[in-house]
Amino acid sequence: METETETEQLNRFLRKEGADLVGFCSCREYFPEYSSAVVIGVSVLKLLKKSQSDPIQNLNTIMDLLNIQGRQFLCERGFGVWGALFSQEDLPGKDIIPHRELAVKAGLGTIGRNFLVITPEFGPRVQLTTILTTMPVLPSQPLDFAPCVTCTMCVDKCPTGALDSYFRHEECVKCFTCVLECPVGRDAQDLRCYSDLPDIWQSIR
Ligand code: SF4
Ligand code: SF4
Repeated sequence: METETETEQLNRFLRKEGADLVGFCSCREYFPEYSSAVVIGVSVLKLLKKSQSDPIQNLNTIMDLLNIQGRQFLCERGFGVWGALFSQEDLPGKDIIPHRELAVKAGLGTIGRNFLVITPEFGPRVQLTTILTTMPVLPSQPLDFAPCVTCTMCVDKCPTGALDSYFRHEECVKCFTCVLECPVGRDAQDLRCYSDLPDIWQSIR
């Protein structure tokens, strides 16, 4: 029987702890001191379904826990790690991790017309957290996935025209129509159950 690689072990560990998506890629072009990025995705609707109260707190706690557990796994094997937690709002450099670019490179999805990572499983309704590590990984294959070629729904439904050839940040009113109306993902059919989703999303982003 083939021995499981450390990449496979970490993947299995993170999924057991609640990750829905896990991908691996090199990150040297962004961070020369780390060889690899581990990108973890969790279905936002799944987490909201589980939350009895304070869904935002629950979501951020779960994402932070996954990041910490992944880092612990790597530290115990002697690898260097870095990652930013949602709870560390003031951490210097927190915003320098290009989560979306690394998520695409790690095979989690593609960048959609709404300028978010679109995953086959959950469309854009996925929360991401990233760990940088010195562990060499077996890189995941980027996806052959291009749902926006045949769809313009988010662009058509955006009330302000913020989705153009670039994201017009100043035009966006954070209504999250472009997140909630995206038809991609097996969770898309559940969206109608959540009338308060725009409010929740506004608090997440
Ligand atoms: S959040 Fe609303 S306003 Fe902003 S880009 Fe999406 S649809 Fe347009
Ligand atoms: S709504 Fe359509 S165009 Fe927009 S991100 Fe989703 S699949 Fe792409």
